[in-house]
Amino acid sequence: MPDYIEELNEGQRNAVLYNDGPSLVIAGAGSGKTRVLTYKIAYLLENGYQPWNILALTFTNKAAREMKERIARQVGPERARHLWMGTFHSLFLRILHVEAGHIGFTSQFTIYDTADSKSLIRSIIKEMGLDEKVYKPGMVQARISNAKNHLVSPAGYANNKEAYEGDRAAKVPALRDIYQRYWERCRQADAMDFDDLLFYTFLLFRDYPEVLARYQDQFRYILVDEYQDTNFAQHSIVLQLAKNHQHVCVVGDDAQSIYSFRGADIDNILYFTKVYPDTKVFKLEQNYRSTQTIVRAANSLIEKNQWQIRKEVFSEKEKGEAIGVYQAYSDVEEGDIVVNKIAELRHEKHYAYSDFAILYRTNAQSRIFEEAMRKRSMPYRIYGGLSFYQRKEIKDVIAYFRLIVNPNDEEAFKRIINYPARGIGDTTVGKIIAAATGHNVSLWTVLCEPLTYGLNFNKGTMGKLQAFRELISAFITDAAEKNACEIGADIIRQSGIINDVCQDNSPENLSRKENIEELVNGMNDFCAQRQEEGNPSVLLGDFLSEVSLLTDQDSDKDGDDEKITLMTVHSAKGLEFRNVFVVGMEENLFPSGMAGDSPRALEEERRLFYVAITRAEEHCFLSYAKTRFRYGKMEFGTPSRFLKDIDMRFLRLPQDVGMFRRVEDEAAVFRRENARGFAPDREDVPYGGRERVSVRPKQQIIAPTVPRNLKRVASSANMANTSPSASGSANRVQRGQLIEHERFGLGEVLKLEGEGDNAKATIRFKNAGDKQLLLRFARFKVI
Ligand code: ATP
Ligand code: MG
Repeated sequence: MPDYIEELNEGQRNAVLYNDGPSLVIAGAGSGKTRVLTYKIAYLLENGYQPWNILALTFTNKAAREMKERIARQVGPERARHLWMGTFHSLFLRILHVEAGHIGFTSQFTIYDTADSKSLIRSIIKEMGLDEKVYKPGMVQARISNAKNHLVSPAGYANNKEAYEGDRAAKVPALRDIYQRYWERCRQADAMDFDDLLFYTFLLFRDYPEVLARYQDQFRYILVDEYQDTNFAQHSIVLQLAKNHQHVCVVGDDAQSIYSFRGADIDNILYFTKVYPDTKVFKLEQNYRSTQTIVRAANSLIEKNQWQIRKEVFSEKEKGEAIGVYQAYSDVEEGDIVVNKIAELRHEKHYAYSDFAILYRTNAQSRIFEEAMRKRSMPYRIYGGLSFYQRKEIKDVIAYFRLIVNPNDEEAFKRIINYPARGIGDTTVGKIIAAATGHNVSLWTVLCEPLTYGLNFNKGTMGKLQAFRELISAFITDAAEKNACEIGADIIRQSGIINDVCQDNSPENLSRKENIEELVNGMNDFCAQRQEEGNPSVLLGDFLSEVSLLTDQDSDKDGDDEKITLMTVHSAKGLEFRNVFVVGMEENLFPSGMAGDSPRALEEERRLFYVAITRAEEHCFLSYAKTRFRYGKMEFGTPSRFLKDIDMRFLRLPQDVGMFRRVEDEAAVFRRENARGFAPDREDVPYGGRERVSVRPKQQIIAPTVPRNLKRVASSANMANTSPSASGSANRVQRGQLIEHERFGLGEVLKLEGEGDNAKATIRFKNAGDKQLLLRFARFKVI
């Protein structure tokens, strides 16, 4: 038996060695499911399977890369390289590129990203004369995506009584027509959206049995990680491929199903044994990732869910520290608390920056942490922000590439026909679109022969259209022969893009220019790499298919950087970090306000929280803020209900959990700390526990003028219960006084300057450092 098999416990080993039929590994977080898949692949490679016989489907490209590296260490890089390993989308794209002809696409078809597809939906809604307020493009897009994930075509949708009734009830009866048109327009443009990559793969296999048979023969073993988050389309394709040989192994955890909003169906895992009746089920119970405290806290949380397979998960690692819970006055203070804690842990325990992750529910929360880290010069990396390929200037260049590779690409056409500005106005473009739709041809076809399609523009306009046509046609000719890097550089220059971004030295333009240079570098790297692999000619289309599915996680060249990781909980799935901060633990944020009172949605939010906590190996911290700026106004928050779901024994609560805090207590602590000359963390302060219910005394507020955007919420809030007059209160602040600021928390007045409206105070905040505040606007109260 190979050495690495010794690195598995008995349950894991059995799962790796069983390869006679379908198998399902269902187990809690950190129990080695991904490890089982990885080792199984190595084992198969050493036992008669060729790398190209193995189809391994992961949730992210990053996960695939990591798995591949691991396998390469066991079987050598050459063999690992030829594995079919990646996301459903990237691997099926590879197949579709080869087989596109069967389903009416060319091998150069474009991929519409979410923004392209939304833009097309918006155009269609407009063309149909529908009201965008009723037919919101985002909503329509979600409904179409949902239909596709359930393998419902426009024809199927039209015949589906349930969908029809649903649309009527929601007063959007035209949805099926929009879907039909959207479907046709994508085909017209030789374009597929992300969901199409699954849907068309399914249709290809369903309608072309000889094609299916070829892939069934090739993929003699199929493995899927994170199976709980597959949707019906993905499940169905795996079934098509595995149907004959039944060599399929899926791993997952129903307690970590967090993508139902994207069509993921937990039933895929719950009913796996029904679909594959000879399945052997393996359960793993030992968690190797986290301390006992973290595992037990996570167990106590997930127990509160009704819909779940009960599992025992235990850890034999050290007991570990209780999960620290922090309360911040504001989102800003939350940022400071977390960043201070990171600095402290690094100092005490010599952690690297890459040992820390800050996980949040929504991307918008990252900004506060970024600012806090920038202030302290801490290196960080955000995942899930705007990816490189979604930046405007990059999308512009890529749109040129797309139109050149596939002139029928409608969205690329619309994006660049008048960029850089060449005097072709919206009216002209609108007429081209109308003619194309009327004749069922692409915009490019109309552009090539406007008269044939009834468009007789004035001479000036005709000239401009012709110039654009000639520009693109010349690129098309060159692109067939030239290397991608060469033609890429030509396009950027000759299209006028580089002139456009170099017109001045504004910081925005400089950064756009740098990004375009970075794109050129990326293309050069790509060509060089391909050439090293023995492909002397690398065409523009090759580059496009490489980048069309990239996310910012994939541009992670400097993977093991010394940086703090910031990401949403969703994107942290499958990952692990020594120290994890789960922030923004407030009602309406986590759980999301969108969950409302729906028990199912709340259970999914709870699973999401379970995923968050179980990413931590050594320390886990939770924090919430009492006030937060959201949607441009201040909101007052209450701690998340999920905090109460965790068994108290595993938590270290702040002094004033549940906001039943007596401000005087904390003020006293703060005074004491200052007297000692340092500020220990809140968790060092003995706390009264959750039961303590002391009514917060009414405080006086020194904030006569409530800024406009705060007024509505402030009027109902505790802090605005009293409203003394302006000058009177401002005069009352004195040096040395302790105050409680609405956003920055506790602080001491160091200095006072100016008079009347210009009166300012310099305040040393416990967690936010020194700040100078204009008293006229500052919202705080004296303690
Ligand atoms: P998740 O549900 O979060 O995806 P998982 O079940 O896939 O978790 P893995 O990521 O495979 O779990 O394993 C968690 C950690 O435990 C990894 O660092 C892995 O290397 C380690 N591990 C797994 N099995 C063992 C083992 N038998 N001995 C030592 N370490 C192990
Ligand atoms: Mg895993």
